Amino acid sequence: MKKLFLFLTITVSTAFSAQTLIQAYQKRANQITQTNIDTYLAEFASYGIKSTGSTNNNNAFNWLKNKYLAFGYSESQISENAFSYNGNTTKNLILTKTGTTYPNTYVIVCAHYDTIGGPGVNDNGSGTAVLLEMARILKDVPTEYSIKFINFTGEEQGLRGSQNYVSTVVNATNPKMNIKLVFNIDQVGGVAGKVNNKINCERDTNNSPSTNNEASAAVTQELMNCVSLYSTLQPNLSYAYASDYMPFQANNEVITGFYEYTESTKPHTSGDTLANMDPTFVFNVAKAALGAVQHFSVADLTFLSAADCPPEKMLSSLKIFPNPTSTTLFIDLLNLNLRDFSFTISDFNGKTLLKKQNEKVIDVSQLPNGVYLGTLQVEDQYKTQKIVVQK
Ligand SMILES: [Zn+2]
Repeated sequence: MKKLFLFLTITVSTAFSAQTLIQAYQKRANQITQTNIDTYLAEFASYGIKSTGSTNNNNAFNWLKNKYLAFGYSESQISENAFSYNGNTTKNLILTKTGTTYPNTYVIVCAHYDTIGGPGVNDNGSGTAVLLEMARILKDVPTEYSIKFINFTGEEQGLRGSQNYVSTVVNATNPKMNIKLVFNIDQVGGVAGKVNNKINCERDTNNSPSTNNEASAAVTQELMNCVSLYSTLQPNLSYAYASDYMPFQANNEVITGFYEYTESTKPHTSGDTLANMDPTFVFNVAKAALGAVQHFSVADLTFLSAADCPPEKMLSSLKIFPNPTSTTLFIDLLNLNLRDFSFTISDFNGKTLLKKQNEKVIDVSQLPNGVYLGTLQVEDQYKTQKIVVQK
C-alpha cells in the first residue's frame, strides 16, 4: 500500500507542477491595497444607478477610462465598443495590454459596470474594482499573452454588451480573434456581517456547445489552485451561468469565472450598497484574481521593487506626463513600491508654486500658461524636467 500511495503522490504533484507559488506573482498580489479597493467602490457608488444607456452609465464609462489613463495607459490601448439600447448609446470599454510572445492570443478578463435597480456596488462594482486594481498593478508587467480587460455594459438587460462584443469584434475579424480564455468576475462583494471566506470558481457545464467544457474544467481547476496560492480564500467549484462569459461560451470559447459563495440578496435593489457588503472580501478576491491572471497570461517572473533598484537608476525611467498639459500631470512610478516621494513645481526663479507628497495625479489647473520646472524627489535623489502648461 505504501508503494501505491507514493506512486499516486508523484502523479498528482507532476500534474500540477505548473502551479507552485511564484514569488513575483505573490509580490504583485500583495501590491493590492484595501484603500484602493475602497476608493474604487466609493467612486462607483457615487455614480448612482448606472442603467444601460443612461447618463450615469455614460459617466461611469468616462470614470473608468480616466482611471486607466491615470494608471499610465495610453489612449491607443483603450477602445470602445458602442451599441444602441432603447435609443441610447452605451459602450463597452476595452483596455488591451499586448503580450510579448503571443500578441495575437488574448486572455480576456471582464466585469460588467452597468447596474439595475440600485447603485450596484456589489453587482458589479465589486468586479469592476478588482479589474481596476489588477490593471493598475500589471501596467508595466510584461506578459507572454495579451490581456484584454473589458468593462461590459448591458449585462442586466440580458448580456447585451458581451453579445455585441462577440458578434461585432471577436467574430468580425478575419481570422476570428484568438482567445485563450475568458475570466469573468461578477458579484464578488460578499455580505456584511457574514464570514466571506469562500469564492465560487465557475466552470462551463453548458452543452451547447459541449466541446469547450473540458478545457473550461481544466482552467477552472487552475483558477482554484491560484485562489489557494495567492489569497486566504477557499475555492469552491461551481458552474457558469447568466453572466458575460455566456456569449463567449456559446461561441465555443473557454470560460471560467468568480462569483461570491455567500450570496447577497441585495443586488438589483437600492440596498446594493457598500454598507451591505464586505470590502475585505473584495480585497481577497482581487488577490486571487491577480494571481490567476498572471498565471493565465504568463507574467514576468522578475519583480522589480525599490529595494532592488537604486533611486538614481530608477528616477531616470520614471515618467511625468502629459507634457505639455492643461490641467493634470500624472507621475508613472512603474509599479515600484515607492512610499516616499514628492513632486514640486517651481518657476525659473526657484519659487515653489506647488508641492505634493506621495501623489501620482497632480492638479496644475491653477497654474497660468507657461514653462515651469517640475522636480520629482525619491529619497535624496532628484529628477527635474521642464513642464509646459498650455490651456
Ligand atoms: Zn452582475
